[in-house]
Amino acid sequence: MKNFVNLKGSCGCKKVNYEIKDKPLITQACHCKDCKKSTGSSFVIHTMVFEDDFSIIGDISSTELPTGSGKGYRAYFCVNCGVYIYCQYNISKGKGGRVAVRTATLDNPITPEAHIFVKDKDPWIDIVNKEICFEKMYDRENTWSEESLIRLENKTHS
Ligand SMILES: [Zn+2]
Ligand SMILES: [Zn+2]
Repeated sequence: MKNFVNLKGSCGCKKVNYEIKDKPLITQACHCKDCKKSTGSSFVIHTMVFEDDFSIIGDISSTELPTGSGKGYRAYFCVNCGVYIYCQYNISKGKGGRVAVRTATLDNPITPEAHIFVKDKDPWIDIVNKEICFEKMYDRENTWSEESLIRLENKTHS
């Protein structure tokens, strides 16, 4: 039926491992100041998946961190090496709940389909495809694939 090959990933010390069991909804890079801080780098890349499709093994802890919107999110990290593996935005909870997996922790990372908060992007980074760049947050209806929008709709209203 489903011919999807599970995506696998891990933290830096490999004591925490995870699997994504169905197609991600979207992969996006965020260049905002909060994401710079939490990665200690120029941007974060997040692969959005349904909570139900995500499973993780190993010792993790979590902490609440701020977002530009003020609603916040909870970030989960390996207790041994401290690498952030995924997070959940407080607005993505409940029915059709989603988590944002840190794309670079995947064994085979995915290329971002959107860049958000480009207004805060480091000036020495040049994103070739301007069509996928957004000053702040994008409008989901115009950015996610039709397939992902339908899947979200079905999950939220089932
Ligand atoms: Zn680790
Ligand atoms: Zn951000």
